[in-house]
Amino acid sequence: MNVLVIGGGGREHAIVKKINESKKVKKIYCVPGNGGISDIAECVDINVSDVDKLKRFALDNNIDLTVVGPEVPLMKGIVDEFENSGLRIFGPKRDAAAIEGSKYFTKLLLHKYNIPTARFKAFDRYDAALNFLKDIWYPVVIKADGLAQGKGVFLADNFKDAKESLDILMKEKRFGSSGDTVIIEEMLFGKEVSVLAFTDGNTIVPMVSAMDYKRIYDGDKGPNTGGMGNIAPNPYFDDKMLDVVVKTILKPVIDSLKKEGILYKGVLYAGLILTKDGPKVLEFNARFGDPETQVVLPLLKTDIVDIIEAIIDEKLNTVKIEWKDKKAVCVVASSEGYPGEYKTGFDITGFEDVDGVFVYHAGTTKSNGKYKTSGGRVLEVTALGDTYDDARRKAYNELKKIHFDGMYFRNDIGIV
Ligand code: ATP
Repeated sequence: MNVLVIGGGGREHAIVKKINESKKVKKIYCVPGNGGISDIAECVDINVSDVDKLKRFALDNNIDLTVVGPEVPLMKGIVDEFENSGLRIFGPKRDAAAIEGSKYFTKLLLHKYNIPTARFKAFDRYDAALNFLKDIWYPVVIKADGLAQGKGVFLADNFKDAKESLDILMKEKRFGSSGDTVIIEEMLFGKEVSVLAFTDGNTIVPMVSAMDYKRIYDGDKGPNTGGMGNIAPNPYFDDKMLDVVVKTILKPVIDSLKKEGILYKGVLYAGLILTKDGPKVLEFNARFGDPETQVVLPLLKTDIVDIIEAIIDEKLNTVKIEWKDKKAVCVVASSEGYPGEYKTGFDITGFEDVDGVFVYHAGTTKSNGKYKTSGGRVLEVTALGDTYDDARRKAYNELKKIHFDGMYFRNDIGIV
């Protein structure tokens, strides 16, 4: 079969690599892809938000299956459009993707069906929101309703900070219409976990849990990034907790969406906080996480194409999903300056000496057989091992064979 993968980061490299392991697959295209992806897939330069052009491409190239990485095309209704043209595509339709696209939609759903989350109020008028902020206990969390690339959430300890955040969202309109509605919610305390699950809208099967290292410096210090590393399974999240999450959050969400007339098919990513009163929802994403995917998919034993097809056909209950009994550690190498300003275009060398790990490309290009840096996060090395320590050692040993000017990575990924 011919497969099209949409996206061009480390997540999509991991997806393409996993799909490439399937015996069913003849050819893979990736839009736009990157330097590393171009070694196993034909990269095609189309804007990932241009749904019409993507559909044309899929029809013209006899694409049998499309897999969507990033959220923007999902919110734009790529799944609806492809299905209307008889194309098979993996991901939630536009109405279901609202679980990521609108925090207000999600909070209302959770509230209506008694699914645990922070208490909240929503406002679409600045004055009303400001009055509310004058009258409440701190700390609080202020969030843009719509997509803001992870930058639309503000934690405020007092009225002054809260007003500043509100001004950014509703007056300055830094995130455009995403800030037309804001959510003000209570701050929750506890360890955060991400749980990703496959679902066909009826059956829900959690993947191996993962733990993200969000900040730039060792010891989880400094500014937030897209993720500087990840490990799986999450050492602080056991099967008993997973059971509670499935029973009190994942299954109820899928069921409540169904009651609202929405069938959720694809990957459901739950961002949770483990409070003393149990796990509560921080947010949902409507797709694979980045870089969670880079540790989770290398542990998947089952053919991913079988899982994806079963989800599209609403027969997920017929597939047994199996995982390797290993630990995975992923270390991200970024450009000097990231997550602030950084330069690109540096040669990347040393790949030929790397052995026994997965090297995912996040921000690279390839021309004349040479790779160059092209993004903030550049490469992600994932190693598997019997222990975290084993995997960690392998990942760092191999990563250190690779070089580019200004290469930076944390040294504490996988210490548990
Ligand atoms: P991203 O997709 O980058 O994770 P997002 O913009 O979708 O972010 P959230 O996940 O809702 O936003 O929030 C981002 C972060 O803010 C969370 O990972 C968490 O650390 C913190 N946060 C959000 N809501 C709360 C809350 N109610 N209490 C405490 N911390 C919170």
